[in-house]
Amino acid sequence: MTASLFIDGAWSAGSGTRRGKIVNPATGQQISEVAFAEAADLDRALAAAERSFAGWRRTTAYERYQILTRAAGLVRERAETIATAITREQGKPLAEARMEAGATADFIDWYAQEARRAYGRVIPSRISGARQMTIAEPVGPVAAFSPWNFPCGQLVRKIAAALAAGCTIIAKAPEETPSCAIELVKCFEEAGVPAGVVNLVFGVPAEISGHLIPSPVIRKISFTGSVAVGRQLAALAGQHLKRTTLELGGHAPFIVCGDVDVAAVSALGAGTKFRNAGQICTSPTRYLVDDAVHDDFLARFAAIAEGLSVGDGAAAGTQMGPLAHSRRVDAIDGLVQDAVEKGARLVTGGRRIGNQGYFYAPTVLADVPLAARVMNEEPFGPVAVVNRFDGLDAALSEANRLPVGLGAYAFTRSSANAARLVDEIESGMVSVNHFGLAASETPFGGVKDSGHGSEGGSEGLEAYLAHKFVSQIGA
Ligand code: NAD
Repeated sequence: MTASLFIDGAWSAGSGTRRGKIVNPATGQQISEVAFAEAADLDRALAAAERSFAGWRRTTAYERYQILTRAAGLVRERAETIATAITREQGKPLAEARMEAGATADFIDWYAQEARRAYGRVIPSRISGARQMTIAEPVGPVAAFSPWNFPCGQLVRKIAAALAAGCTIIAKAPEETPSCAIELVKCFEEAGVPAGVVNLVFGVPAEISGHLIPSPVIRKISFTGSVAVGRQLAALAGQHLKRTTLELGGHAPFIVCGDVDVAAVSALGAGTKFRNAGQICTSPTRYLVDDAVHDDFLARFAAIAEGLSVGDGAAAGTQMGPLAHSRRVDAIDGLVQDAVEKGARLVTGGRRIGNQGYFYAPTVLADVPLAARVMNEEPFGPVAVVNRFDGLDAALSEANRLPVGLGAYAFTRSSANAARLVDEIESGMVSVNHFGLAASETPFGGVKDSGHGSEGGSEGLEAYLAHKFVSQIGA
């Protein structure tokens, strides 16, 4: 496992001796280690990404489509190995890890096909005899930083989109969960991606971003993670005039109007909240429920939360696994204690489970005051706030109160309510009466402090393209 760096087509442990610990979050025990890249390794990756860009950008879209399609096939063949690695290092139940592996292959397929649709356009010219057009070109070598919550699913959005567009990439994958990232990159390697086009590194995150972003080789930055780190990387990218895609955190509102089927919506709401133990940037956090149905919704939601089977994600029957690392347990417990101190009602949960691994009980808080930190900071864990509202104005005002806007959910039988909610919620994505976010063919991204740019959909490829304008007379 120490040969975890993939630079210029070769696996190695890099030039240094620093290693990161890989821990199984279900036990808290170290299971392996991952090699960290040093500056010399990053310089080799930069040289490889620059050199190989000259050739990769000239491959035809059809060749890239063929290679990527082969990589998607390899991911499907190895889905069980990838899923097992995800669960072992990140903690989510195996069923969810299998879905992540499947979605990873889907994303590669989507971008393989999008590569063939990187159209330019012909523009009617005002100059007699001139032909004017745009040509889509790859923006250049990319530095990408992906997080541990979907260690394969987030990384693939960056690698597949960059490669499809004709860019080369240096990806820093999460140190906590390297094995599935390594498996994924092997699929690209074995599918025939030339040496240097994909490079995978791990290390001290700030050292790596501090080295790669200022490099003149890198033309594009893609980061998924917290708002705080996104701000730092955006500042550095701005200083060096690099294009960015930033997928940062959210604090998703989940608005439930008084006209819904409460049993169905509370079951959907609880199912979504506790998936991946709440460690999802679009995980609903603020359940804003019409006064008329609030108590019924809360009772049903809390009963589902209480009944969830929490345990090792590798064990049959587990519905919610541990948190991914110990600092998440401390963060969640701090938010819950703070809310209770400020007057919130703890309906269920609010405690760690067991004395090994990073387990925290599915937690439901009600009547939470706005001053509580959990109303203002993304919990990124298994905590739901179920508050009441009186009238849609109040719900919208609370939904839009925070500076972030990534995912939002709304449930109503009224088309007038739905239209208003869709129009007035300030978020990059809104899902009405179901959960419909994050498929490969749909754009995924936020507004306000949740970042900018999209991953997924045709917008996802666009992030890696520059449009050259050509105006030509004669020849
Ligand atoms: P963190 O802020 O320390 O790190 C978040 C991610 O950014 C990690 O993957 C980390 O490796 C990376 N990172 C940190 N500093 C970096 C730097 N200087 N350069 C490049 N990458 C850097 O937080 P954490 O404890 O790992 O995660 C908790 C918070 O992160 C959550 O509260 C959540 O808001 C956010 N998060 C968001 C997503 C998402 O999908 N948007 C995913 C994971 C984590």
